[in-house]
Amino acid sequence: TEGALGLLAELARERVGDGSLLLFEDQHWTGTQLAARASRLSAGLRDAGLRPGERVVVCMANCPEVGISYNAIWRAGAVVTPVLFLLGEPELRHVLVDSGARFVITTPDFLPKVLGAATGVPTVAAVIVAGVSDPATGAAGDGAAAPTVLDFTELEAGDEAGLVDTSPTEMAALLYTGGTTGRSKGVMLTHQALSAAARAAHLTQQSVPAEGRRRVGLSPLPLSHVYGLTVSVIGVHATQPATSVLMRWFDPVGLLTLVERHGVQTVTLVPSMIRMLLEAPVEEYDTSSLNKVYSGSAPLPRETALEWARRLPHSVLAEGYGCTEAAAIVTAHPGLTTRPGSVGLPSAGVELRIERPDGSAAAAAEDGEICIRGPMLMTGYWNAPEDTAWALRGGWLHTGDIGRLDKDGYLYVVDRIKNVIIRNGFNIYPRDVEDVLLAHPAVAACGVVGRPDPKVGEEVVAFVQLAPGAAATPEELVAYARERLSAVKYPREIRIIDAIPLTSVLKTDHKALRRSITG
Ligand code: ATP
Repeated sequence: TEGALGLLAELARERVGDGSLLLFEDQHWTGTQLAARASRLSAGLRDAGLRPGERVVVCMANCPEVGISYNAIWRAGAVVTPVLFLLGEPELRHVLVDSGARFVITTPDFLPKVLGAATGVPTVAAVIVAGVSDPATGAAGDGAAAPTVLDFTELEAGDEAGLVDTSPTEMAALLYTGGTTGRSKGVMLTHQALSAAARAAHLTQQSVPAEGRRRVGLSPLPLSHVYGLTVSVIGVHATQPATSVLMRWFDPVGLLTLVERHGVQTVTLVPSMIRMLLEAPVEEYDTSSLNKVYSGSAPLPRETALEWARRLPHSVLAEGYGCTEAAAIVTAHPGLTTRPGSVGLPSAGVELRIERPDGSAAAAAEDGEICIRGPMLMTGYWNAPEDTAWALRGGWLHTGDIGRLDKDGYLYVVDRIKNVIIRNGFNIYPRDVEDVLLAHPAVAACGVVGRPDPKVGEEVVAFVQLAPGAAATPEELVAYARERLSAVKYPREIRIIDAIPLTSVLKTDHKALRRSITG
């Protein structure tokens, strides 16, 4: 079950083939059809000059062609470099230059941006456009160095190609992290790492009862992110038939409609999507089929979890934890049980260790840095040996997150080390302060950061977004927090703003909040 991804896809095609289904808007694809398209596209890419080990950037919103492209690239022994379609031209250019990409696959809507970013990047041989009859019309055509534009449909028009022999230890994906805390770096993941992660995710999903029916899962998460890539693309290679419902992009009403229409049982979300869902009239839809909702990628506020349990009591909201460097899922809650506040148990193959700042192992229930070992770890950061050596010291991935394990081995994530505020020598975790403010009825979202202060080192500042139609003054909110938090921790300053800034993957952007204070 772990190995070269092209081979795993072939095995799945033989075993489940027409049993697995992908539903997308008004389209309906069987596993057999998708595999055949990937195999033909792979032949087309090889004819166009793609060689094993070369990087192919994929810049598309969710659609079947994303998974088809990934599989075609893996069949050719090349490397998938997905980017979020929302990426700006300079960031996209950074990825193209840094990765030395050979091809870019995109759709007409992003073609001008892609051509802008790729022009003058010497490694890029061509840009491939999916979903148009005449891609050449979209070409910028201004400079001599603009890359050639090829048509996806023409590339997949030939015969199927065999697999390029690929070792499981070769790189399968180069994933650029969002750069929430610094410059965006390429994370190198092998075929083995991705298949181990997909297997772990599959085992967790299998532990959820499917009530005698075929499993129907829905994910609105971008397939460019490690989670979507591992669970929604490689997960489809699993050997049990299932139906996956794909969404181009998240919207609450669209999601509820799909859950009702297809009898969806499991959904994977991030906390800001859950908040948006709870702002929608969820009770007006039939969500009775839904038995498990996964939350990950950022802390799930306690208040959000409580509201979910109140309004959608038939579905379990379970929080998991993961990171790109460990190919997505590190911990999860199997089955239909959860331990509130915890992100669950290590998934299959994952070893966890909580480390003190001096490198020794923390005791049970003691806070320390979350470190991970297992077959799903990255081999390192692309072209960044020093960052790699630091992140992987002692053979353990150092996540930069603070956490603790309880006596039963459940993990609790405290906060990111980089978000910690040090006030008068005390460590303050923004998350604790955020959780308290979020319990106030007028607060819709908030983000807490430190402001440099000559007297106390860093002062705690909370940015607050009020709920629609709600009113509260900063003074009231300070008083509210002061009653519920220790004197050391409570925010001395509250700033009410229109919207809490989110990163492109919808996490609270603490870096932007800090910048807005210091300029
Ligand atoms: P950067 O680019 O700075 O590495 P990122 O957010 O883009 O950040 P990802 O790999 O997408 O990188 O996210 C991994 C991080 O998300 C984890 O290290 C952790 O800080 C956070 N995270 C994931 N799941 C949870 C969770 N359940 N609770 C709290 N934090 C979480």
